[in-house]
Amino acid sequence: MDAHKQVVARLRSAFSSGVTAAEQFRRAQLLNLVSLVKDNEHLILNALHKDLAKPKFEAVLSEIEIVLNELYHAIDNLRSWLQPDYVNKNIATKLDECFVRREPLGVVLIIAAWNYPLQLALLPMVGAIAAGNCVILKPSEVSAATERLLAELIPKYMSQDCYAVVCGGAEETESLLENRFDHIFYTGSQKVARSILQAASLHLTPVTLELGGKCPCLISDQVNIVAAARRLVWAKFFNAGQSCVAPDYILCSMATRDALLPEVCQALVDFYGKELQKCPDYGRIVTERHWIRLIELLSKSKGRVVVGGKSQQDEKFIAPTVVVDLLENDALMEEEIFGPILPIITVESLEEGINYINRREKPLALYVFSENSSVVTTVMENTSSGGFCSNDGIIHMTLPGLPFGGVGASGWGNYHGRWGFETFSHQRACMLRGWALEKINTLRYPPYTDKNLGWLRWAASAKKTPWNSCTLL
Ligand code: NAD
Repeated sequence: MDAHKQVVARLRSAFSSGVTAAEQFRRAQLLNLVSLVKDNEHLILNALHKDLAKPKFEAVLSEIEIVLNELYHAIDNLRSWLQPDYVNKNIATKLDECFVRREPLGVVLIIAAWNYPLQLALLPMVGAIAAGNCVILKPSEVSAATERLLAELIPKYMSQDCYAVVCGGAEETESLLENRFDHIFYTGSQKVARSILQAASLHLTPVTLELGGKCPCLISDQVNIVAAARRLVWAKFFNAGQSCVAPDYILCSMATRDALLPEVCQALVDFYGKELQKCPDYGRIVTERHWIRLIELLSKSKGRVVVGGKSQQDEKFIAPTVVVDLLENDALMEEEIFGPILPIITVESLEEGINYINRREKPLALYVFSENSSVVTTVMENTSSGGFCSNDGIIHMTLPGLPFGGVGASGWGNYHGRWGFETFSHQRACMLRGWALEKINTLRYPPYTDKNLGWLRWAASAKKTPWNSCTLL
């Protein structure tokens, strides 16, 4: 048996023993994960700095606190999530107990990406543990320091029978995927998602896909331009632009663009100082390969660089860069940028902006900046995206009450908070019948008669009639 098969077999045997089903076990493992994160904050921050030069402030907010909040939320709500949901009944089922029961799926595989290497590994794991599954975690090999740290810490803190970390890249993941899983949760690119789906189809394994795409940010003319520029600069250049929900491009009028550009420059100076490359609050591109992709993308663009443009390969540094005057088929508009380059496309009306968005694949997030609430509503109602946020960027994904996920090409399914628990649960429809009133049952047995059919149509109807509240039945 190869090593991956052995790990899957170990976890499957633990799952079959029923150990993960107990609420106390799930709670204890979630608490262990809290300790893992809290006890090792310093090591985690070091690893994130090694991988992405992630500033401590950004790492604490977007990796450590977001995971801890998700854990506390799951621990606080676990008991209520585990309660069955009783459903409305009709006359025909009045005496039955009818409810939805959440059951664990089994052994699930979580494949994570590198841009938030701790968050993207542990946040789905919280939902999977809360739902009572065994988990194999496959962190991204690209963020190697965090990958190593997770592989070292998870077996120290968590049940080794129920949770395992498998390291490696495409080859190891492909070999892992030859095994049967009960769910695959994948975060990464659309290209790799296709091979994940192919592998999953062999065992008919359900899959959640957390993908990317180009997240638009529409800025209307009625806007507080100073605040808009500051919020935009923060959301775009956080983690050096390597966020799946970062605004990928701006749509605005020529007048708004001209008003926005000096404010963007001012916000950059206010945030990072005059010598941005020396500022510890600005991250780096994850690897040289990713740096080269971005620089090539910029050099293929026919647009005009109006802010930034500076880069340094040995430091994997790319300055926050804004590009204008590009056509719809510009290289920067053909793929997700996933780095600190921000194209601005000018449009002549709100309608033109909405049409521009709707001509493309549905994005993971969509942003609109406007002081006019009817503009916000018009954009929300006439577009589709995984998430939607007005007058800010990224921030909507920090709330565990909101589902996080894409739609169409930006992903399938969602997680965070209760949504993650549901993703990793089977919603089992249960009807507990007794033996009473067999006389009523005879209505549905042959020989069939029109009279009985009439009674059954009435009894099975979901319509509210005075009879539906009859307490005799
Ligand atoms: P990546 O290179 O880290 O790959 C993701 C995972 O897939 C890794 O664990 C990797 O080992 C594995 N992998 C790579 N090639 C594989 C193959 N051929 N077969 C099987 N597994 C393979 O990350 P990436 O793909 O560069 O991720 C960037 C993309 O992820 C962007 O599009 C971004 O928008 C998206 N993303 C989405 C979310 C989200 O939550 N929706 C979050 C972060 C990133």
